[in-house]
Amino acid sequence: MRITFRNLTSIYHQNTPFEHLALNDINTTFEEGVYYGIIGHTGSGKSTMIQTLNGLLLPSRGEVHAGDILLKKKSKQKDIHQVKKHVGMVFQFPEHQLFEETVLKDVMFGPKNMGMDEVVAQEKSEYYLNLLSIDESLFQSSPFDLSGGQMRKVAIAGILAMEPEVLILDEPTAGLDPKSHIETMELFQRIHQEMGITVILVTHDMNDVFEYTDYVKILSGGRLVREGRTIDLLTDEKMLGRFALEAPDIVKLAHDLEDKGIVLDEIPRNVGHFTE
Ligand code: ADP
Repeated sequence: MRITFRNLTSIYHQNTPFEHLALNDINTTFEEGVYYGIIGHTGSGKSTMIQTLNGLLLPSRGEVHAGDILLKKKSKQKDIHQVKKHVGMVFQFPEHQLFEETVLKDVMFGPKNMGMDEVVAQEKSEYYLNLLSIDESLFQSSPFDLSGGQMRKVAIAGILAMEPEVLILDEPTAGLDPKSHIETMELFQRIHQEMGITVILVTHDMNDVFEYTDYVKILSGGRLVREGRTIDLLTDEKMLGRFALEAPDIVKLAHDLEDKGIVLDEIPRNVGHFTE
């Protein structure tokens, strides 16, 4: 599913004294099957952008085209529901949203809620729990008896079992130890590659941006200030200067690549260009 923002503006508490412009006239596209990173300082509009992508927030002005569905300020619940069905969101600390009596019931909740048949929902839930290495012996346990890492996997399985075409990850590794961090990111990478789904990662971790994403969109003060191939950031002196403190390994990698004359041709060039 391709998602396009047309002149999208998002204002909190519109027409009140607390009115706040969070996204300002954004035009951009998320193409099918691409791994995107959204970066920007706190308050730049990342979270507003991803909530607008899956219909949790409606535009104040402008439009969101999600496949054939059009979302506007006054869209109907039916259209919003359709978008939510196709665009899955892994929130920060997703384990906080577990609530059912058993692990299996928790994972099945989303798919059933989306209208999936009970038997199919169970099959898919078991499949994704297995994929996330949750042992079958735990399926009937309470999710609250699991370790923190296992709880997060169960919550992620619940999103995957809905089989979204677009998967949004909001700081998915927050609070994880380095080993679980890598495991989680590798899992999303596998899902992206094997299932061909679009992934949209919001993160402050520049190493993850360079390791996993193909394209980056950079927000600042509610505006989309730049977008383009991640690899092009590596060859951009100004951007490298900005990342030098946050991600010294990446700067080193960029220089190594340059020294070796390596061009990463496998990344398609047709999606976007830096716009600054
Ligand atoms: P980020 O995810 O990049 O930190 P947000 O999208 O959360 O940015 O916020 C964008 C701007 O909108 C910020 O200035 C923030 O203070 C404001 N904002 C976010 N949520 C609300 C809200 N519920 N009510 C009012 N202002 C908000």
